[in-house]
Amino acid sequence: MIRVAIIGCGIIGASIAFELSQFPELKVTVFDKQPPGQGSTGAALGVLMGVISHKTKGRNWKLRETSLQRYETLIPELEAFTGRKIPFNKQGILMLCSEGEDLIKWENLIATRRSQGWQLELWDVERVRDRCPHLSLKDRIIAAIYSPQDRQVDPTALTLALVEAAERNGAIFEFGVPVEAAEIAASLKFDRLIVAAGLGSAAVTASLNQLVDIRPVLGQALHLRSAKPLGNPDFTPVITCDDVHIVPVGNQEFWVGATVEFSENGGEIPANADMLAQVMARARSLCPALAEAEIIRKWSGLRPRPEGRPAPIIETLPGNDRVFIASGHYRNGVLLAPATARSIREMILQ
Ligand SMILES: Cc1cc2nc3c(=O)[nH]c(=O)nc-3n(C[C@H](O)[C@H](O)[C@H](O)COP(=O)(O)OP(=O)(O)OC[C@H]3O[C@@H](n4cnc5c(N)ncnc54)[C@H](O)[C@@H]3O)c2cc1C
Repeated sequence: MIRVAIIGCGIIGASIAFELSQFPELKVTVFDKQPPGQGSTGAALGVLMGVISHKTKGRNWKLRETSLQRYETLIPELEAFTGRKIPFNKQGILMLCSEGEDLIKWENLIATRRSQGWQLELWDVERVRDRCPHLSLKDRIIAAIYSPQDRQVDPTALTLALVEAAERNGAIFEFGVPVEAAEIAASLKFDRLIVAAGLGSAAVTASLNQLVDIRPVLGQALHLRSAKPLGNPDFTPVITCDDVHIVPVGNQEFWVGATVEFSENGGEIPANADMLAQVMARARSLCPALAEAEIIRKWSGLRPRPEGRPAPIIETLPGNDRVFIASGHYRNGVLLAPATARSIREMILQ
């Protein structure tokens, strides 16, 4: 029996807990100072940009591909196992291309994806108009890329389902209890420690005398409700353009976001109202009916971004092969969670 402690229960810690809980030789305990999914995960839009991303090889593509494939089986498995509903949009992602966009680059990506067994389509504006009559293409839109196999998932619903499923498999969760990483690492109660504390991973690793530098990047988003249906009810993909996502979440409701705000002096990041207004203005220029939609909620969250190295960090802590880091997923933690969980399981059971 290998006794594993996980610090952090966002999408990453919960995914690892569920993955490991399926192996009877592993005994899993998860600690979080808050209830599950209250960190970065609670702010995420859950857009899974895999096929449509420009990563085509190496670790970064492999993690994306593994996650996309796993999501197709993971969601129905969790729903059947827990009886919970996990909103999972299988209509794909439609990316509108503005003037100046290099369409040759997209044609090359389409060919690469075809050779990798994935679909991606270049649409002309006529096709976009036909499939998405609620969009306005006047504002410099010259074409679109449709990615039918990319997805969007509700990150909080998914995290809670993962926790419940892991618990049913015998994992133990301790919420609201601040834990000392050094204490756990030194404790004889655990054989392995996984640091999945998102932004908190910097402090956790510092307490183990091996700082893994992870810094915050703020994101703001909005939840809107339209009084009338928008567009074609049979075709409701995530719409994205110039880094602004319009995410249909059912009942004529949409999430719109997110801003990308860095700290200017290494300190706190005050939410910038102008940046949120710019995101909203772009969303309204793409979908004019959103101007009449009611704003139900505004929120912000902090993305965990590794300093001076690529995201994410999935490795053993230098100098301590009992401690594993699964953190710093920056803008793609929801997308990369299943592949991260698999990598950690392979490292532990190698
Ligand atoms: C506005 C916004 C939009 C986003 N949209 C997307 C998107 O569309 N798609 C996507 O893939 N990603 C998106 N992301 C990024 C995604 O949210 C993150 O990459 C992901 O949530 C990181 O998950 P995590 O589990 O590592 O961190 P978190 O969710 O932050 O979880 C870390 C947990 O660790 C706990 N913790 C910290 N320190 C300690 C400690 N010392 N002891 C105990 N517990 C501790 C915290 O309480 C927290 O629950 C978005 C992020 C934001 C802010």
